[in-house]
Amino acid sequence: MLRALFLLTLLSARAAAAAPEPAFVVVVDPGHGGEKDGAVGPSGLREKDLTLQIARRVAARLAAQGGRAVLTRDADRAVPLAARAALANARQADLFVSIHLNAMPGPARGRAHGVETYFLSADASDASATAVAARENADRLAGEPEPDPRDPVSGILQDLADKDALSESSRLAYAVHERLVHGLGAEDRGVKQAPFYVLAGARMPAVLLEVGFVSNAAEARRLATPAYQDQVARAIAEGVAAWRSALAAR
Ligand SMILES: [Zn+2]
Repeated sequence: MLRALFLLTLLSARAAAAAPEPAFVVVVDPGHGGEKDGAVGPSGLREKDLTLQIARRVAARLAAQGGRAVLTRDADRAVPLAARAALANARQADLFVSIHLNAMPGPARGRAHGVETYFLSADASDASATAVAARENADRLAGEPEPDPRDPVSGILQDLADKDALSESSRLAYAVHERLVHGLGAEDRGVKQAPFYVLAGARMPAVLLEVGFVSNAAEARRLATPAYQDQVARAIAEGVAAWRSALAAR
């Protein structure tokens, strides 16, 4: 009897070892693309090019951590905002991470620098968060449905799964933001909330990262170097890992 039990334990241990661990899937979304340049820096550096370069490095870092990264685009092409989260839903991704570069209009254009991290809410944290969401949301391609201006994230809070995803989004935002600020030695411009269309459809924890200002000449130059891009990617991957271990410990 005891021997049979031992054998059974051994067999189930083997079965567990043989069953592949389901991969941790992160959809990494390089902002803009194709006809949509995103913000353009003083020397002509384009947000869409830098976000793709950074996203590829993030994907490599996540893969090195044993996860699986899926890019919403791996070339300079237009992808509708709604299709980006839809891809993450279709892949049943664990996380959705949208990568962007910030830009400041007006007299502060050349001065603003640093990192802002966003998760979704119907109301923006402040006027500058409203402006960032408006700029990123302006990317809707011709033919993409016009969201209801009174409630741009309508439907997202309706079921419990989405509410859970939203509170995890805030935890993920703080974990990644902390690593970005410390890893880059960048100015901490805060974790904020705003109604981003690209995040609205995601049914998993989702964040939008403004990893630096392309409108600031010095920061734009840094963001274009492979070494700094790799620092950004490492910080994002470390933030994801920190969120995962905190989740496992809860
Ligand atoms: Zn952007």
